[in-house]
Formats: sequence, C-alpha cells, structure tokens
Amino acid sequence: MGRRRSPVMKLCELEQCNERHYAKGLCKRHYHQNRRDLLKQTKKISRDGSANNMQSELL
Ligand SMILES: [Zn+2]
Repeated sequence: MGRRRSPVMKLCELEQCNERHYAKGLCKRHYHQNRRDLLKQTKKISRDGSANNMQSELL
C-alpha cells in the first residue's frame, strides 16, 4: 500500500493519466491493462519500488 498522494483523492499513478484510482494505484483502464501485461510477461509496473505488492499479489 504505497500512499504517496493524498489519501483523500487518489488518482492513477501513471503520470500522464488523471483518472480516478481504481486498484493497485491505477485507474480502471490501466489496472486491467497492466494486469493483462503482468499475466503475460510478469513485468512490474511500478517505478518507485512498490512492485513488491504486485508480486505478492501474483503469487
Ligand atoms: Zn490510468
């Protein structure tokens, strides 16, 4: 649970995206997009070391 932003209004962590937070620090669209990528190539999406959450999620 990386809370880098205000807990009041959470947004997608992708810098070029301002959608409302949905899950895993991402908006709905990017969450599903990344989830698909993760399942396909087990590639981490986070740039700030919060990838641990993603990995434990997959395992
Ligand atoms: Zn997004």
